[in-house]
Amino acid sequence: MGEKTSNTDDSFRSSDHPITRDHPILISEEVYSSLRGRFKGDLLRPADSGYEEARAIWNGMVSRKPALIARCADVSDIQNAVRAGVESGIVTAVRCGGHSLAGFSTCEGGLVIDLSRLRQVTVDAEARRARIAGGCLLGSVDTATQKAGLVFPSGVVSHTGAGGLILGGGTGWLARRFGLSCDNVEGFTLVTADGSVVRANARENPDLFWALRGGGGNFGVVTEFELKLHPLTAVVLAEGLSPEDRIRPLLEFWRDFMAGAPIDLKWNIDLRLAADTENVPRELRGRPVASSSLIWTGDPEAGRPYVDRALAFCHPETTSSKLLPFLKLQTMADSAFPHGRRYYTKSGYFHYLDNATIDRMVDAAATIPSAETAIELAYLDGAVARMAADETAFGDRSAPFIMNLLANWPDASADARNVAWVRGLFARLRPAMKPGVYVNFMSGDEQDRVPEAYHERWERMVAVKSHYDPNNFFRLNQNVVPRKQPTGE
Ligand SMILES: Cc1cc2nc3c(=O)[nH]c(=O)nc-3n(C[C@H](O)[C@H](O)[C@H](O)COP(=O)(O)OP(=O)(O)OC[C@H]3O[C@@H](n4cnc5c(N)ncnc54)[C@H](O)[C@@H]3O)c2cc1C
Repeated sequence: MGEKTSNTDDSFRSSDHPITRDHPILISEEVYSSLRGRFKGDLLRPADSGYEEARAIWNGMVSRKPALIARCADVSDIQNAVRAGVESGIVTAVRCGGHSLAGFSTCEGGLVIDLSRLRQVTVDAEARRARIAGGCLLGSVDTATQKAGLVFPSGVVSHTGAGGLILGGGTGWLARRFGLSCDNVEGFTLVTADGSVVRANARENPDLFWALRGGGGNFGVVTEFELKLHPLTAVVLAEGLSPEDRIRPLLEFWRDFMAGAPIDLKWNIDLRLAADTENVPRELRGRPVASSSLIWTGDPEAGRPYVDRALAFCHPETTSSKLLPFLKLQTMADSAFPHGRRYYTKSGYFHYLDNATIDRMVDAAATIPSAETAIELAYLDGAVARMAADETAFGDRSAPFIMNLLANWPDASADARNVAWVRGLFARLRPAMKPGVYVNFMSGDEQDRVPEAYHERWERMVAVKSHYDPNNFFRLNQNVVPRKQPTGE
């Protein structure tokens, strides 16, 4: 595939292409013609009604115009789209929920294999198992599993795609108790680059099973995930805001306290600017605060002492604690991350938050450039760390602190300021970080960090990629570039 194996769609800028047989427009027409007669789903081209809505993805920073969106109706549609994509050499994106922060769910002038019609969820309550189709959003999984009083540990925003989240790892409120999302997958069915349907589980293709749990979209289009479920219907949710002068002692306490906390407790802290709203005390509005959210998944009474100690660091008028139905927990952050706003992120792990790092974060909180931007901090460990490091491809289980610098702002005029703030802070914090990064929290400009994300698992990732996708057809992802194929000379 020559130069098209790079992780970029720049090769489709029309000015670079005189109209020859390999012009992108002709290639996409060829793909369209080859699919038209046999495709059961929708084929959308730029002039078609519905195309504009269909091309939009969650991150408003990414606006690309694919030549063809193939919204698949079943597995054979996916196979046909993959075969047509491979045969033509067209750059191809795979989309589930379209929430890739990096914008991998679309491309300029290429093909999008859109899985949004494939959202079936089948729950076996007795076996505590579910089968979900490759295009499911987290919300459809939660709604179906809760009908049986069961949960699948996933992310914190219900409009996120289960496909991308699980394949990258998947951390959320239940990760300390039940592990990552990918730790709770028992089998995958996928369409690989040769168009065949392959199963991967502990018995069939175990290397692929290993790689799919953390390796992102590198290996094929997953049509079905087989999930392990757990009984849970409600949690205790406690929240509070710590004023600026309490952020430093709060973070020092949190760092030490979480090291001995039970796995029923998940405590996330966001450093942000307090909202300018009625329910926030006047003296905090617009000022830097630490926003604590705690989840307790065990017996509510047993959790009370932990929650009380944490909330002691918060402004008393901002604290609350209540029993919350699981579905409410899973949707409470939905409106904070709307589609179409502009987002930019950088992420990393820490073994330990030393005092100098805490100082840098506190100083940075005072310079946050927009109302919704946050330094997001979570403590993993628990069931995540109990899984052996080499059991899955997932990046890092040893460093409990995971930080995500997530800038979130409404209009393009503030792009430079927000991106510069994230990059500047990341550079200042980087020396104290443990090398490594969670692939689902990476931006589109971090391809050089992909080997870092998998570090000691990198060679094995390359080997599995080289076997299943030797020409790097699936390259719009945090890309594992396959080994060069022998030329046969
Ligand atoms: C609002 C928001 C909240 C988030 N919250 C969390 C969170 O709580 N925890 C967490 O761990 N992450 C979280 N993330 C990050 C999230 O895990 C990634 O953005 C993830 O890639 C989103 O998956 P998607 O299917 O929506 O994305 P898409 O953009 O559709 O896909 C992302 C990548 O996965 C690949 N892919 C998706 N589905 C398939 C499939 N079926 N087969 C093969 N490849 C596929 C795509 O090709 C692409 O490379 C959040 C992201 C957002 C935007």
